[in-house]
Amino acid sequence: AQSGKAQIGVTGLAVMGANLARNLARNGYTVALHNRTIAKTDELLDKHGGDGDFIRTETLQDLVDSLERPRRILVMVKAGAPVDAVIENLIPLLDTDDIIIDGGNSYFKDTIRREKECAEHGLHFVGVGVSGGEEGALNGPSIMPGGSKQSYKSLGPMLEKISAKADDGAPCCAWIDTDGAGHFVKMVHNGIEYADMQVIGEAFDLLRSVAGIEPQDQAEVFRTWNTTDLNSYLIEITSEVLSQTDGKTGKPLVDVIVDQAGQKGTGRWTVQSALDLGSPVSAIAESVFARALSSSNPEAREEAQQNLPAGLISTTGVAQGDPEFVEDVRRALYASKLVSYAQGLDMLSAAGEEFGWSLDLDVIASLWRNGCIIRAELLGEIMEAYKGDNAPVNMLLAPGFQSILQDLVPSWRRVVSKATALGVPVPVFSSALSYYDGLRRDRLPAALIQGQRDFFGAHTYQRVDEDGTFHTLWSEDR
Ligand code: NAP
Repeated sequence: AQSGKAQIGVTGLAVMGANLARNLARNGYTVALHNRTIAKTDELLDKHGGDGDFIRTETLQDLVDSLERPRRILVMVKAGAPVDAVIENLIPLLDTDDIIIDGGNSYFKDTIRREKECAEHGLHFVGVGVSGGEEGALNGPSIMPGGSKQSYKSLGPMLEKISAKADDGAPCCAWIDTDGAGHFVKMVHNGIEYADMQVIGEAFDLLRSVAGIEPQDQAEVFRTWNTTDLNSYLIEITSEVLSQTDGKTGKPLVDVIVDQAGQKGTGRWTVQSALDLGSPVSAIAESVFARALSSSNPEAREEAQQNLPAGLISTTGVAQGDPEFVEDVRRALYASKLVSYAQGLDMLSAAGEEFGWSLDLDVIASLWRNGCIIRAELLGEIMEAYKGDNAPVNMLLAPGFQSILQDLVPSWRRVVSKATALGVPVPVFSSALSYYDGLRRDRLPAALIQGQRDFFGAHTYQRVDEDGTFHTLWSEDR
């Protein structure tokens, strides 16, 4: 290190930036701190100045001057226009080969654009996906860096040092590929996270409304599930959330929380990108739509509750706490989870082809093993499935997953049937099952759709018994 200079600067010291800065300092790096509102910089230094070596700066010029060269500046400001504003202000202050790092949740196409703009000024721009929330940022997040390979040489060791470590000690950080690849992978991670959360929600609803298990007791069910192959951070925190009692009313906290889910947009981006790629991420999409259904039109929900016919074909659930049903739900959850991961990975393959990235799915799975929100035992198995040269064409087709599915599918069908009969919505359980059956189906009605398309639009079709493109002269043949 050049004496008196910082090895990295962080601008944007809200929760994520502050915690990443502290994480870097705790790992022995000298970190220059900058925030638009200077009071926030001082607050961080007051509270946590003892975490390591920090350099306090007030202006971007100070920040730039405090860094060793080539400079590394981690931008952790609000995603969107603020990132462009900061880049614009930084460009005239920087020198060739300096690196601007965007560690926020930026849209990958913005990252591609920003990298081009920075390259025109001889600067490196590295879009880095960071997952793990504020706790991860402080203690070790999962890190998905894009940008040039050259910039990773300078940045990689630092990022790997502050990242989470998997059980085998490997850092949950590896170069993904050029320009927006890191942010793209982070985006798909978030899409999978939406689906993971929704399938847990569906299980919760079923356990309660079909098997009469109250939240406090469900906390125990989820605690037990966390010792099975469902072991994951989200199952663990679900148990915590369900065991929480509201201080004001004495009710389970989950019962006093308004049932309208929010979103910040990364799930929506995943689905929008999947639509552009033609990638069938139906389970992930349903999880985004389920949040929208919960919150977009409360009046419609209220009226529907009063007025729409239920038409139930069964009104009886199962015996309270029925262990067979509980196990069926656990298996249905796991199967649906497998589908959402398979869909997310499939989307990554499609994106690799579209954007010219060579995405190693085993490496990506390995980065998600710890530090991030979707960390789960399953990721180790996915990593194994994609290791070596025999990558499956779809994750579900990996031999290990085929045999797991053998045990899951009957439970999955029973749960979806029961839910449907009783009018309990299971958008991801059911769409994931339809995807699964769609993949397995020998003949899909897509043949009829091709016929319809040829009828009204002369879109042509292919035949099963002959090469070439065919069009039927419908009116003459009738
Ligand atoms: P945030 O609330 O998204 O952003 C606040 C920070 O941005 C403040 O430092 C603010 O400075 C700065 N800022 C806003 N507009 C600016 C502008 N025009 N010019 C300069 N600075 C500006 O912060 P966050 O929650 O820590 O998130 C940072 C990034 O990490 C986001 O992209 C977010 O999506 C991503 N992320 C967040 C989480 C999480 O759990 N929160 C997890 C993963 C990723 P002032 O103090 O001066 O207002």
